Amino acid sequence: TDIKELLLSRIRDVADYPEPGVMFKDITPLLADPAAFTALTDAFAEIAERTGATKVVGLEARGFILGAPVAVRAGLGFIPVRKAGKLPGATLSQSYDLEYGSAEIEIHAEDLSADDRVLIVDDVLATGGTAEAAIQLIHRAGAEVSGVAILMELTFLSGRPRLDSALRGAPVESL
Ligand code: 5GP
Repeated sequence: TDIKELLLSRIRDVADYPEPGVMFKDITPLLADPAAFTALTDAFAEIAERTGATKVVGLEARGFILGAPVAVRAGLGFIPVRKAGKLPGATLSQSYDLEYGSAEIEIHAEDLSADDRVLIVDDVLATGGTAEAAIQLIHRAGAEVSGVAILMELTFLSGRPRLDSALRGAPVESL
């Protein structure tokens, strides 16, 4: 469709970044183009409304840039999920495995309540490890996930089946 072509045309492939053999998807041209950034925001806000979201969670760091305008557009609050050690208040933490080693993400526990339905927003779904950990954090906070909204899915890394088994039926929507 038109919006897919517009968005895809504003994503730059960067070879061998951040390490040899990786083709990095750079979204900064999309952010710099107001028509593309607005189209993306509108599409994500439509997913928030359609899935009955009550909050938007953005995953550090590009999920902050994409998620905050979605929250404003949809009339919802925004909650950051941050790398460990960055949030000042009482947090819930979730660690997950990387190719080498592990990583940990956190959320302010008081930002979610049991009647919340959360739309998780990020730019790229790769192995799914980050988004899966975010889903676990939200469930542990007692809230539900309304869906996962992703700009781009690297299907060859099989993130989607991993999220599907964590999601209790909520959709993964990649544009
Ligand atoms: P995963 O946990 O699914 O393996 O990796 C997803 C996370 O890494 C996301 O937060 C995403 O921002 C980042 N990421 C992984 N690969 C890329 C990429 O090619 N481009 C961008 N922009 N982000 C990536």
